[in-house]
Amino acid sequence: MTEDEKVKVLMVSLPLQGHINPMLKLAKRLISKGVHVTIATTEYARHRIEQDPQNSEIKFEFFSDGLAGDFDRSNNEALINSLKVEGSKNLSTLITNLTKVHNYSCVIVNPFVPFAIEVAVDQGIPCALLWIQACALYSIYYRYFKNIDFFPDLKDPNEKVQLPCLPKLEVRDLPSLILPSSPHYFWLLMKEFVQALDKVKWVLGTSFYEIEEEIVNSMASLTPIYPIGPLVSPFMLGKKETNVASVDMWNAEDSCIEWLDSKPPSSVIYVSFGSITVLSQKQKNNIATALKNSNISFLWVVRPRDIGGSQEDGAELPLEFFEKTKGRGLVVRWCQQEKVLIHPAVACFISHCGWNSTLETVVAGVPVIGYPDWTDQRTNAMLIEHVFQNGVKVNFEEDGVASAEEIERCINKIMEGPRAIEIRKRAMEMKDAANKALLEGSTSDKNINLFISDLIAKKT
Ligand code: UDP
Repeated sequence: MTEDEKVKVLMVSLPLQGHINPMLKLAKRLISKGVHVTIATTEYARHRIEQDPQNSEIKFEFFSDGLAGDFDRSNNEALINSLKVEGSKNLSTLITNLTKVHNYSCVIVNPFVPFAIEVAVDQGIPCALLWIQACALYSIYYRYFKNIDFFPDLKDPNEKVQLPCLPKLEVRDLPSLILPSSPHYFWLLMKEFVQALDKVKWVLGTSFYEIEEEIVNSMASLTPIYPIGPLVSPFMLGKKETNVASVDMWNAEDSCIEWLDSKPPSSVIYVSFGSITVLSQKQKNNIATALKNSNISFLWVVRPRDIGGSQEDGAELPLEFFEKTKGRGLVVRWCQQEKVLIHPAVACFISHCGWNSTLETVVAGVPVIGYPDWTDQRTNAMLIEHVFQNGVKVNFEEDGVASAEEIERCINKIMEGPRAIEIRKRAMEMKDAANKALLEGSTSDKNINLFISDLIAKKT
């Protein structure tokens, strides 16, 4: 088939680690099924994306988010507002130019750029959404903004919310973006996303049916979501391909894999808080104390912080911690997490419970200690402890910080004793389910094939 005969799709995402990577994974799946894929993202991370040889089969296009190159993009409000106005205009121009050459059957957008849905629909191109969080979160946002279920006053953290197919949720288990403590622009962004859903023809999810069956079924009559995951790099699912389907915003320190090679099976605690969360000094100190006291080996990712395009070292750990844990612990700035998680030396993961990390732990069969921060992470930590049951979550003090003793309690609970055995068994069951979810004939496989058939039908 020539490139012109192929079904063509355009994907739109911000170049954030946890946003663009699921898009890349979907892109690679679609390419393997004969679809031509272009990814449009903002100029900001062009240098990282273009220099990554792993993604050479994907065509990238860039548009400006409307902010100067050295603007501090951790200023979320300014970024969101600029994207809505300037980014949206620039994306529209890019799509106009691209459609002179390519006949796109569909634009696939990431939920956190709802303006892209409007742009695609205005240009007469059908729109699909890749929902990059748990289907449970899709259900919560939809029900909240459409007033489908009763949500009490969310100001009281002791209130409980009962939603279909979920355990009773404490207000603090809901996604932070809808809570009164969150800035209004985030609330508005999610509202705009739910409103834009009416214009979306297909909603695909990075999760998989077997772990969220009831939620997926409960959404079928409201706004169906079709899980096509787990969207992870193929090697995590035992495939021969060793390529990591991702763009790394920082250089991974591959030496940590050799370090893991030197450790016995199930002997290392892996610690990472993803690509956005910045820990306070007190949080870092408490984690350091817990790791030091545990006497267990650990690999800790302490990421450099992006400050206005330059990188500031975030590794402000107490010197005494390095002295006391010498030989037992390794601190790196970034790693290839999927490779770390499938390493036999890894016993458990102290995680912020970002959805990509959560899916990766499920696929790797690694038990989790959930230490969530914001957005969907607290809901994911609740899912991990109460629904998936492949981990535990820390309890926070009044100031939102987990004490060193609490982290130690979780480490003990997950490493030894009867609960540890149950959690490990459950993690292995979920790993099996994840591996089966991508076999031919599974729900995920059927869903992605149905999506492609629909695109082919539209082209012919
Ligand atoms: N990740 C990585 N190396 C690290 C830390 C994280 O490759 O040292 C990857 C991880 O595998 C995941 C992504 O970064 O795919 C983080 O996404 P997630 O949704 O878990 O969290 P976010 O960064 O969006 O908060």
